[in-house]
Amino acid sequence: MLLRHTPKEITERKALTINPAKTCQPIGAMYAALGIHKCLPHSHGSQGCCAYHRSTLTRHYKEPIMAATSSFTEGSSVFGGQANLVTAIDNIFTIYEPDIIAVHTTCLSETIGDDVQQIARKAREDGKVPDGKFVIHASTPSYVGSHVTGFANMTKGMVDYFAKSTDKTLDQINIVSGWVEPSDMREIKRIAALMGVNIVLFPDTSDVLDAPQTGTHEFFPKGGVTIEQLKSTGDSKATLALGAFASKDAAKLLHAKCGVPYETLELPIGISATDRFLESLSLTSEKPVPEELTRERGRLVDIITDMHQYFYGKKVALFGDPDHLIPLTEFLVNLDMQPVHIVSGTPGKRFEIQIRGLLDGRGFEYNVKNGPNADMFRLHQWIKNEPVDLLLGNTYGKYIARDEDIPFIRTGFPVLDRIGHSYFPVLGYTGGMLILEKILSALMDRKDRNAPETSFELVM
Ligand code: SF4
Repeated sequence: MLLRHTPKEITERKALTINPAKTCQPIGAMYAALGIHKCLPHSHGSQGCCAYHRSTLTRHYKEPIMAATSSFTEGSSVFGGQANLVTAIDNIFTIYEPDIIAVHTTCLSETIGDDVQQIARKAREDGKVPDGKFVIHASTPSYVGSHVTGFANMTKGMVDYFAKSTDKTLDQINIVSGWVEPSDMREIKRIAALMGVNIVLFPDTSDVLDAPQTGTHEFFPKGGVTIEQLKSTGDSKATLALGAFASKDAAKLLHAKCGVPYETLELPIGISATDRFLESLSLTSEKPVPEELTRERGRLVDIITDMHQYFYGKKVALFGDPDHLIPLTEFLVNLDMQPVHIVSGTPGKRFEIQIRGLLDGRGFEYNVKNGPNADMFRLHQWIKNEPVDLLLGNTYGKYIARDEDIPFIRTGFPVLDRIGHSYFPVLGYTGGMLILEKILSALMDRKDRNAPETSFELVM
């Protein structure tokens, strides 16, 4: 009973968050920056922030995350961090030779009021930025937003700094990936390749955070979107932004800056959201959906048909990032499951509106909350009042799962105590099959555990 002090009785809270269902903005900015080829993320703040963000990403991806810091001391906290950042830019380009330094701020540098854009300009004027190299930035104070908004801000920064429109229109589609795993980014590229569609995927952490063991350490692995590709996004035919919370801002800016039309879609998690993604990709590229993808869909439908009785009516609690929870909720509803408690620490009005649009009139009661006070404590209280058959979320859900004895599936960010998420996609139809396999295994393991010997069947 690790969370034994969580009471069943719910009292309204206004200014207190207990066990947040989100993490720091800069973590998202750091993750997005790693999706650019030869980019070194830089944390403009104290060493502690950078160490925390790096270690969380390292623990999630089981890869050493490279990032630099302005290493604020008491002096820089009082007088500002300009001197530290200019020195850092000089050192980083001299020693590590990245093509880009992606600077994100922290609570401290934002509170001081450091103007990172002006500092980067000064560094260039002082000759600290070699020709053909870049310093980009995103503002990511952690007392607002979440890791998702940090990701969105850095992705928007990529457009802000690089996208250019020339007179030509290229036969390519921009896909803003959203915060998904390297495996998912690889899956998006596989789907586009099967359809014969040229895409620029950004950010793209495949072959960066799931790079193979070759015996040789590569400071900058071969993956990531290149600067040339980012520049070319301004000449693309269209942009598909996957996930409104993480990707829409970048697509909107690209439209405003270069006139590239955009469409915001849910992440292609589950059958309906994947259908919509393929339909949009097909319409914008004027390429048909190939037979191979249709057959993948058929296999997913086959599993649902075969195993429907095990999904039917099961109550589910889920928490995590809004861009994941919205299509996941839709998928669970498609399976005739009942998502009854849904929590996200990331703020934004459209989350609750979209969830209500999916669940209203389905014939069961549910709770949904996001933003401040939408925390793990509240989720636990809801579960105590209305128990569930399954819990989905990141590693931190294991405490609730253990205390309430609920089957638990790890998904989202961070997953610190399991592997697989970097390697096996949850996007697309094949990703849908993996989600189903996980749900069924969790439910059936529980069924096996609880079954009396007289009904301990080999055939389900
Ligand atoms: S909350 Fe602010 S101070 Fe704390 S680790 Fe995150 S960025 Fe740093």
